[in-house]
Amino acid sequence: MTPSLDLFATLATHGYGELHACRDEATGLRALIGLYSTRLGPAIGGTRIRAYPNDAAAVDDVLRLARAMAYKAALARLPHGGGKAVILAPEGAFDRTELLQRFGEFVDGLAGRYVTTEDSGTSPADIDVIRSRTRHVVGASGGSGDPSPFTALGVRRGIEAVAAGWLGRSDLEGLRVALQGVGHVGTHLARELAKAGAKLTLTDVDPARRRAVAEELGAESVAPEAIFDVECDVLSPNALGGALSEATIPRLRCRAVAGAANNQLADPAVGRALHARKIFYAPDYAINAGGLINVAIEYAGYSAGRAQRQTLAVHDTILEILERSRREDTPPGEVADRLAERIMRDGLG
Ligand code: NAD
Repeated sequence: MTPSLDLFATLATHGYGELHACRDEATGLRALIGLYSTRLGPAIGGTRIRAYPNDAAAVDDVLRLARAMAYKAALARLPHGGGKAVILAPEGAFDRTELLQRFGEFVDGLAGRYVTTEDSGTSPADIDVIRSRTRHVVGASGGSGDPSPFTALGVRRGIEAVAAGWLGRSDLEGLRVALQGVGHVGTHLARELAKAGAKLTLTDVDPARRRAVAEELGAESVAPEAIFDVECDVLSPNALGGALSEATIPRLRCRAVAGAANNQLADPAVGRALHARKIFYAPDYAINAGGLINVAIEYAGYSAGRAQRQTLAVHDTILEILERSRREDTPPGEVADRLAERIMRDGLG
């Protein structure tokens, strides 16, 4: 451990909790599992493999991510706490299968208090290897499959809530939506919105992708940077994090922001700036919960119908946040945090 890592003070800063560590000489495994609240049920969240500059950075990452998962699961009313695992990528050559098998034993040692799945740096094939050592996994091959359609469905439902509660519309017919990113989620979402009669302007840094989706749906397409200047009802970030920043907010010509991308606000001040401009921001972790709902249903015993029904409820969560935000004149991100904390404290009810 680096002398600069003040472990218990770090745990206290993040409001923890439990942090488990595993080091295995034979396979080179160095892994951390953070469990943020198992009050509602087993902690759920992915395993990432990446290189970290030092141990403190890995600890910070796992604690931050597991905490975010706990808030997301609570707000989606799932019987799960938040968890996350990081495997520090070994320097030099290593046997990936042996490493993941040993990691599976580490997960198994937590006896179901942590349920893992894929994340950045891991694939369903990796989850298959982990599953050979523990049954506490979801998202292996042959499991509930690609979560993107469920995430997109939830975002569409969130946009419907915004249309009804913020824009005074009864449906999406003629709603102008600007989509940033038409990858896995963005493409499914664009199709759902087009089917409901929305008028789309879209962009992607991949010009071929941008062109193909625009042609398929009869949508307008613009250059990536121009998406922030599009006059629309809803801006929908579905690319990378940090789309909303001090630089982009003054350019926005929308009345709401609602998309799947994680960490859309570059910092909390951005949430307050949007609120001051009367642009409703659907908190990312509330509106993009469909993928998590899908794997949580897999853990309970998969049924696509149940996953779909539960994802539809993203509508009510966004509406609840919207109404409280208006009533209390508080940025929606802060309202969502308080709501999630209350659910974690009082239970699902
Ligand atoms: P993806 O990689 O399939 O799609 C992202 C798309 O955005 C790509 O087509 C990429 O070319 C494009 N892009 C990147 N930078 C851009 C920019 N500056 N401007 C315009 N386009 C840009 O990823 P995805 O699975 O569709 O996920 C999209 C976002 O939603 C990510 O932030 C992800 O973390 C989040 N998310 C995804 C899921 C899911 O189920 N896949 C669930 C929850 C959250």
